[in-house]
Amino acid sequence: MASPAAPLPSFARLPHPAPRPVDEREAILANPGFGSVFSDHMVEIDYSVDPATGVGRWHDPRVVPYGPIPLDPAAAVLHYAQEIFEGLKAYRLADGGIALFRPFANAARFNASARRLAMPEVPEELFVEAVRQLVLADSEWFPTVEGGSLYLRPFMFASEAFLGVRPSRAYKFLVIASPAGNYFKSGAPAVSIWVSDYTRAAPGGTGAAKCGGNYAASLVPTAEAFSRGHDQVLFLDAAEHRWIEELGGMNLFFVFEDGSLLTPPLSGTILPGITRDSLIALAREEGLTVREERYSLDQWRDDAKSGKLIETFACGTAAVVTPVGKVADSNGEFTIGSGGPGQLTQKLRQRLVSIQRGEAADANGWVH
Ligand code: PMP
Repeated sequence: MASPAAPLPSFARLPHPAPRPVDEREAILANPGFGSVFSDHMVEIDYSVDPATGVGRWHDPRVVPYGPIPLDPAAAVLHYAQEIFEGLKAYRLADGGIALFRPFANAARFNASARRLAMPEVPEELFVEAVRQLVLADSEWFPTVEGGSLYLRPFMFASEAFLGVRPSRAYKFLVIASPAGNYFKSGAPAVSIWVSDYTRAAPGGTGAAKCGGNYAASLVPTAEAFSRGHDQVLFLDAAEHRWIEELGGMNLFFVFEDGSLLTPPLSGTILPGITRDSLIALAREEGLTVREERYSLDQWRDDAKSGKLIETFACGTAAVVTPVGKVADSNGEFTIGSGGPGQLTQKLRQRLVSIQRGEAADANGWVH
């Protein structure tokens, strides 16, 4: 369903007639929180199929005032959840420039999700250009708080008004932006994890796609983790309920006393995290051994108790690297290392953050 390659279209611009007042914006940017305030603009691009030729294409890319979008009550997304999204951050650099971290990796993963959900791909160049256009339109929206960033949320949904169960013939691709604070002001605190009895993804399912339905299904298990006093939920594999997969919104790494790392393989049931991929590369650059292998909950518990395993951390765009301090399931709980952030966890976090913020050499060409 790939759209034919085409030269990049130019984006129409409709500036916001009443952008948020400067004093209000400045107050938000000094203390942005996460995900509840949005910048003045958004990008919108439509996809439709020409009934005469049956050929679909993306058209009318535009930067418009942020606001509600009219939706037909029969729009396919509202009934069959044909929807995918991405999440990435833009950073304000010390020299005043703006950097995106690995936006083409997000574009590629977006299109992998699109293929799984029978949706049209967005040409990678168009995806990245849409993100760039929004960042330029809302360049005043970067948090002033230390460690802040502009979180970007590209997404696509099925907009055709049709109740038959088949792929929609019309879609909308949008990008919105939300100023985000530093998750952790002074180093990352260790989180406590609840191992869920629920299953997130099964072989052959949509676990590797970033589709809304996966997250809808994770809400009850996550609420259960919270109600038991934990910070995050961990999912095991569907078939044996034995192998560690990932958290609700982060991938996992395990650090052993010999200095090596392990992370669950991209089995098709976990999200291929871009932070995960970046950390594998950085750890290998440091000369560390990184294995992408299955690891069971029982082994994890045994290794933590024997001292063979010394650190565990979760990683993702939002919180970058988060140490895991405690793990619990219906049989009891165990502690990782001292229960606080481990040394390698902090070192890798620092390495990644300094590349993202343009403070360290970007040997891999990740920063745009
Ligand atoms: N797993 C899941 C289920 C996620 O939602 C995320 C966040 N996108 C991740 C892992 C981490 O992915 P990334 O490093 O690309 O943010």
